[in-house]
Amino acid sequence: MYTLGIESTAHTFGVGITENDRVIANERDTLKPLSGGIIPREAAAHHFRLAAEILGKALNKGGLRLKDIDLFAFSQGPGIIPSLKVGASLSSFLSKKYGKKLIGVNHCVAHLEIARLYTGLRDPIMLYVSGGNTQIITYYNKNYIVFGETQDIGIGNLLDKTGRRMGIPFPAGPEIEKLAEKGKHYIEMPYSIKGMDVSFSGIETFVSKIIGRETKEDIAFSLQETVFSMLIEASERTMAYCLKNSLVITGGVAANKRLNEMGRKMCSERAAEFKEIPMEFAGDNGAMIAYTGYLMRDYNQKDLDIKPKFRTDTVEINYR
Ligand code: AMP
Ligand code: MG
Repeated sequence: MYTLGIESTAHTFGVGITENDRVIANERDTLKPLSGGIIPREAAAHHFRLAAEILGKALNKGGLRLKDIDLFAFSQGPGIIPSLKVGASLSSFLSKKYGKKLIGVNHCVAHLEIARLYTGLRDPIMLYVSGGNTQIITYYNKNYIVFGETQDIGIGNLLDKTGRRMGIPFPAGPEIEKLAEKGKHYIEMPYSIKGMDVSFSGIETFVSKIIGRETKEDIAFSLQETVFSMLIEASERTMAYCLKNSLVITGGVAANKRLNEMGRKMCSERAAEFKEIPMEFAGDNGAMIAYTGYLMRDYNQKDLDIKPKFRTDTVEINYR
């Protein structure tokens, strides 16, 4: 069974194709503004402009034509309204034109499922870290339960905003990672963790005031050490509380080597399993939407509207 999934919640437009539970194509393009952050209208224009080209590339890669696709899936939310609309309207058009079923996928659940697929971990605690989302999640009784999350901005957002203030264009995460490797001196920063929840806005303000006074390398290093420690601490507490003995990190920030290193170390100290997901599937991608659509193939969904505030814990997980 061939499933074609479309991702368009934010900065990335992606098309992925799966043959049953195997990914056979994963094409995408991310909007990278020359200055400033992502403007919703510009993200939608980017997706609209590149949609046909990326769709064509994915089909070529899979050696398929549109009429060969058995199921269409799209990212229903959470996300930015103009961006979401591009994927929703394109997938709805294709499903009608070719007379095939359409499945609406929760973007966060898709990040979790692709992580389970590529790590082989069946029931891990999942640290989901991306631009707009930061959540610690576990599966319980047909639901993904959010055990801890950010009280304000997402971790990727913190990195991107701080990067912008230091003159690094979006997405700043990879560049901050490189700078951090050269940092020598740890600058103490507000460490803000409340139970399982974390908060980043205090750190954001703190860092905005030391830019120009400390080196970029030391700021990047100290910022990473502080916020990643918070996330790993909350993940460890969740593992202990839920009696689960494995961890995966998923979402765009899961591409960061230092964060994975900290996760691996914490797990080895408590004799738990840790597996990294391949970088290709860390950030937003169409393959995760196709794969999750495939898992949900028997769902009978009535509401296929976009859901800009779609929460991970409101999706009923029938396939597990
Ligand atoms: P997503 O929304 O899941 O595609 O994630 C995008 C976010 O991941 C952006 O905020 C990026 O800055 C961040 N990101 C990408 N690569 C890295 C990295 N190597 N280290 C830290 N953050 C990263
Ligand atoms: Mg994402």
